[in-house]
Amino acid sequence: MTQPHVTVVGAGLAGSEAAWQLANRGITVHLFEMRPKKFTEAHQTDKFAELVCSNSLGARAIDRAMGLLKEELRRLGSLIIAAADATALPAGGALAVGRAEFSDYITEALHRHPNILIHREEVTDIPAEPTIIATGPLTSPALADRIRELAGQDYLYFYDALAPIVTLESIKMPPCWRQSRYDRDSGESEGDYINCPLNEEEYRAFVQALREADRIQLRQFERDDERFFEACLPVEVLAQRGEEALAFGPMRPVGLRDPRTGRRPFAVVQLRQDNLAGTLYNLVGFQTNIRWPEQKRIFRMIPGLEEAEFVRLGQMHRNTFINSPMLLRPTLQWRHRDDLFFAGQIIGTEGYVGSTAGGLFAGLNLARLLRGDEPVVLPRETMMGALFWYVTHAEPKDFQPMKANFGLLPPLQPRVRRKRERYQKYATRALSVLDAWMKEHHILEDIVASPPSR
Ligand SMILES: Cc1cc2nc3c(=O)[nH]c(=O)nc-3n(C[C@H](O)[C@H](O)[C@H](O)COP(=O)(O)OP(=O)(O)OC[C@H]3O[C@@H](n4cnc5c(N)ncnc54)[C@H](O)[C@@H]3O)c2cc1C
Repeated sequence: MTQPHVTVVGAGLAGSEAAWQLANRGITVHLFEMRPKKFTEAHQTDKFAELVCSNSLGARAIDRAMGLLKEELRRLGSLIIAAADATALPAGGALAVGRAEFSDYITEALHRHPNILIHREEVTDIPAEPTIIATGPLTSPALADRIRELAGQDYLYFYDALAPIVTLESIKMPPCWRQSRYDRDSGESEGDYINCPLNEEEYRAFVQALREADRIQLRQFERDDERFFEACLPVEVLAQRGEEALAFGPMRPVGLRDPRTGRRPFAVVQLRQDNLAGTLYNLVGFQTNIRWPEQKRIFRMIPGLEEAEFVRLGQMHRNTFINSPMLLRPTLQWRHRDDLFFAGQIIGTEGYVGSTAGGLFAGLNLARLLRGDEPVVLPRETMMGALFWYVTHAEPKDFQPMKANFGLLPPLQPRVRRKRERYQKYATRALSVLDAWMKEHHILEDIVASPPSR
């Protein structure tokens, strides 16, 4: 009997993890990486799983979203997390790594694996054999063109423009209230939008704060592309363009009436539901490049958001990603091709650890498919399950990338008010659900090798 073989495209965080998961389940992997023949705008070495910016993989504690995600990956036998644990540096509550040692560990492990064949080549077409595409936020243009042909013109994006997201329970009502403009509701709630009203004085102080805010400097390759900004203006740039620009733009109050006064407010910030569970709301039209601590300070000036709990802050950068809610199943399989998977930041999961999670899960599911088992879906109580559920079930029209956060998890029953206690309970529930799920689906029983020891 011939051994099944697959192609993994991209040896970043997701592709390296996917290749490891497949190879450890007895599958021959052809791993394609275009570096060093061709570099992205951000990578600088020929190493696998290069960390292109910060050397931190986020919080360690499991009562932090990123810590929980790492613990889930650890339990699922992740190579990337084993490498991070083996090359960790002193960094307080964060898991920071020696950048070079981390990539060396992963590169060596993949080179040494008898089931992995490495090809230092750019892939310029979608392979016909079983494949995982994990080419990341800076996918090479030739392959991006092919993905766009496959996905359809409107479903591959080159930039993200993220508006902040807050938890529903941290929005104060009143002064905020539910209503859609001109009461044009979907009929599914008592008002699709949450509106935060500003009087003239509050509006002017808010615009002034936006104008003076400290911004993140764009990288050269982002500055070179003007389409980036003109397509989707950051809120602080709009504020610079004129004192009234926001009041006639995303903060226009037309079609709205403040129930406390019976009148239209001077300006409003509208919040739109962001997940099916209705626990998260995004600030509509508030994509921004303001530095994160400044964002919290300024957006908490909005009446009703004084104590907002931000699960995502705004940002804008070059980022190739597909419209996963339209194109992928929750197993990370392409909707119209069982043996084609996408993983990593290209599916809309943000950050090193979120990308690793996609690689692990796609690898695990492709291995199952090749063995004749059904691909699995992770329980939504787990951070990984909640993240993949989000990216495959978000509203396609407004889809933007997402990072792990507790707001994605189904609420606890009964509800827990204190944040610290709530997060601890989410984590305990996630890990016990994950353990049971792994047992039920015999997840680690087909592993034939484990991460190298140092
Ligand atoms: C400038 C920048 C800064 C960032 N800073 C951070 C940060 O500080 N913290 C954080 O958590 N996240 C950060 N990110 C996001 C981070 O890049 C991703 O979270 C993570 O690297 C994504 O993993 P990935 O495997 O999906 O993609 P990558 O790690 O980018 O891996 C994709 C791989 O595919 C290869 N490739 C691309 N096209 C082809 C092709 N056609 N054929 C063959 N190989 C190909 C690339 O060379 C690359 O090695 C940053 C991203 C950018 C662009």
